[in-house]
Amino acid sequence: KDTGQWLCHYHADIKQAYLRRLKVEERLNMALNEQSLSMAYQCQVNEQGKIHAMEALIRWQDGELGMVSPAEFIAIAEQSDLIFKIGDFVLARSIGEFAKMHQHSDTPLELAINISVMQFQSSVFIPTLLHSLETHNVTAQSIILEITESLFMDNLEHVIDTIKSLKSRGIRFSMDDFGTGYSSLSYLREYPFDVLKIDRSFIAGITDNKADCNLVKAAIAMSHSLEIKVVAEGVETKEQLDLLNELNCDIAQGFYLSKPLPAAKLLNFSLRYLKAL
Ligand code: C2E
Ligand code: MG
Ligand code: MG
Repeated sequence: KDTGQWLCHYHADIKQAYLRRLKVEERLNMALNEQSLSMAYQCQVNEQGKIHAMEALIRWQDGELGMVSPAEFIAIAEQSDLIFKIGDFVLARSIGEFAKMHQHSDTPLELAINISVMQFQSSVFIPTLLHSLETHNVTAQSIILEITESLFMDNLEHVIDTIKSLKSRGIRFSMDDFGTGYSSLSYLREYPFDVLKIDRSFIAGITDNKADCNLVKAAIAMSHSLEIKVVAEGVETKEQLDLLNELNCDIAQGFYLSKPLPAAKLLNFSLRYLKAL
């Protein structure tokens, strides 16, 4: 009987997850047509306290489902060709808005864009990206593509060719969520990463947990010896920021510095931020 009950719950859970997936997929299709997706930008701040770059993060406020997290809907979109439409939207919108923000900034800014595995592997990815840059008159040198190590799991030759081709044009690469998954050091040795982003699960523990602190310290030392810059994700307190500075971390990003904001608000914020320094 216990097993039967357990199976019942199990089936109910699976059914619920399945229905949710279908719903998200259906509403996401509509969102793309209705253009109810938007982008938010989160500042990355360097050791001098200056905004050095921002990360573009997609936002979806749905009429029926409310705010849906990209962690949920990107994974669902990746199971169909929806991910290509979303990827195109992200490139066009974030590069367009970045061009405007850049015009209003008195210091050079960089834009970090998250690229999903399927989007990266698509044959139209490079031309679409270059087209967006050209349309908005943005240089390749201001773009950093955030990819995760899951990219190296299959279709490796094509992935490497794409990285090389983009690198030769001046586009840089960042390894996102470092420390989760396998985090094989060989990726860092074999592929020309410019930036390593330490996952926020490590940053959360650095001020209380010696092991987390030592791991972050080691990741920074290793990256620097490979001439890779380090971004700490998810910095939520002043203590974390101070410790990261002490550990020679190059760049910090997190709620303590700024939440992700729409382009118009960020413009205001960054001007205020710079004046406050
Ligand atoms: P990610 O690329 O690692 O992005 C960082 C996530 O951490 C963002 O969540 C951001 O809002 C959140 N975050 C930043 N600072 C803090 C902090 O101090 N504390 C905490 N608790 N969280 C913080 P978000 O926007 O929900 O995005 C989740 C993930 O969804 C992203 O992780 C990325 O993998 C994916 N994603 C977001 N936007 C896009 C996009 O435009 N394209 C693709 N392909 N994926 C995206
Ligand atoms: Mg990212
Ligand atoms: Mg990350």
